[in-house]
Amino acid sequence: MLKDFKVTVEKIDIESFDTKTFHFKLSNNEEIEFKAGQYIFIKHLREGKPMVKPYSIASSPSSKNKIEIVLNKIPGGYFSTYLCDRVNVGDVLEIKGPLGLFTLKEPIQNDVIFVGTGTGIGPLRAMIKRIFELKTSKKIWLFFGEKTEEEILYRKEFEELEKEHENFKYIPILSRQEWEGEKGHVQDAIKKYIKNSENMEAYICGLINMVDETKSLLKDLGFDPKKIYVEKYN
Ligand SMILES: Cc1cc2nc3c(=O)[nH]c(=O)nc-3n(C[C@H](O)[C@H](O)[C@H](O)COP(=O)(O)OP(=O)(O)OC[C@H]3O[C@@H](n4cnc5c(N)ncnc54)[C@H](O)[C@@H]3O)c2cc1C
Repeated sequence: MLKDFKVTVEKIDIESFDTKTFHFKLSNNEEIEFKAGQYIFIKHLREGKPMVKPYSIASSPSSKNKIEIVLNKIPGGYFSTYLCDRVNVGDVLEIKGPLGLFTLKEPIQNDVIFVGTGTGIGPLRAMIKRIFELKTSKKIWLFFGEKTEEEILYRKEFEELEKEHENFKYIPILSRQEWEGEKGHVQDAIKKYIKNSENMEAYICGLINMVDETKSLLKDLGFDPKKIYVEKYN
């Protein structure tokens, strides 16, 4: 149910030169019931005028009193710059949530591919955490695209998860740096690794062009369009 909450910023992790993870604790021991993949609105008064912006919850729905968001500072972007540069540990923010239909379909009945770029990893991270809490034996893939190695979000965490679960395959892809891993765009790696589209579903999150191009590729590869779920960030 959509509700207003106050949250205290408990911790801020610096993930890369322009990306941070914010750890929020809900005030008064309140709890937020949400599905993996949903988002919240963060509220803010800009020159006395109220404004809100959506941010996906990047943590598992099993944690209801503490949630995380991953935030990218957009050059020239008012809200992301306010959050990144002016919000500190101990500050209290107002949020509203949960919202959104981009949610993990449970129980897990198909093999799943997750495709994200940038902070689009947020809702996918919540879903992947949830999936492994549910202890699935389905094959799970994560294709994550970034420009450079320094910008790969939650790399250690996903590498650990890959070591723990033989049904999880983690594929980071870089578009602007030579390295030993996959190069190009997420679509290039999908074409290389996904040979069978039967009984598969897909969750895609990031900027519009990537989401549209990946969705169209998956349809060409034979994915059932009804089993391709997307969230677009601008
Ligand atoms: C459902 C949903 C969930 C979202 N979840 C997250 C999240 O978890 N983390 C997160 O960081 N953002 C997320 N966003 C984006 C977020 O809501 C803001 O749009 C973003 O923070 C930019 O706001 P701003 O006020 O700083 O920039 P604006 O002032 O809105 O934009 C400034 C300029 O940057 C461009 N721009 C806007 N967003 C982006 C972008 N992401 N990349 C490149 N250029 C951009 C705009 O077109 C504009 O030209 C989400 C968006 C949606 C719709």
